[in-house]
Amino acid sequence: MFKPTLSVLALFICTAPALANEESLASLGTHQHGLTELFVAIEQNQLEITISSPAYNLLGFEHQPHTPEQKAKLQQVTQQLEQADQLIWLPQQAACQRTKVQLTQPNDHDHDHDHDHDHDHDDQHSDWLVHINYQCAAIDKINQLDVKPLFTAFPLIEKIQMQLISPDIQTSTRFTAQQTQWKW
Ligand SMILES: [Zn+2]
Repeated sequence: MFKPTLSVLALFICTAPALANEESLASLGTHQHGLTELFVAIEQNQLEITISSPAYNLLGFEHQPHTPEQKAKLQQVTQQLEQADQLIWLPQQAACQRTKVQLTQPNDHDHDHDHDHDHDHDDQHSDWLVHINYQCAAIDKINQLDVKPLFTAFPLIEKIQMQLISPDIQTSTRFTAQQTQWKW
């Protein structure tokens, strides 16, 4: 059911009914500031991690940057996310090498599709997606991860809902700044 070319998010959307719980589908419709999601897929020697987050959690705002400070913040955060593999700690013995990091802002728009609604452009919402792909020499050694650097880098993240899927396991958990490690 899983092809390496398929994005993790598409996979989770396909399998969502099996995994659904109250908050796991936030990226599919609702948008809750403070909540960031992590989708982890393991297949053969490949690991794909997708971070799905309201831009607010990363930047502190969701509108287009206006001030020099906001423009600088956007640039800084973009650079941080281009190194997103450094924001999640994996077991060293799994020997995972980042192969690609892709940053997209699929919902970054001005709500111009919604003419019936009174939208203040400073009140728009924006979600960011970061796809991180790895090749791992010993992928069976991945049995834990730690998202502490994510919480440290982005203090506006209050909780991270994680879903993991591999040939052997489907599981989910929730991280907070006090609870950043998960073993399975
Ligand atoms: Zn928002």
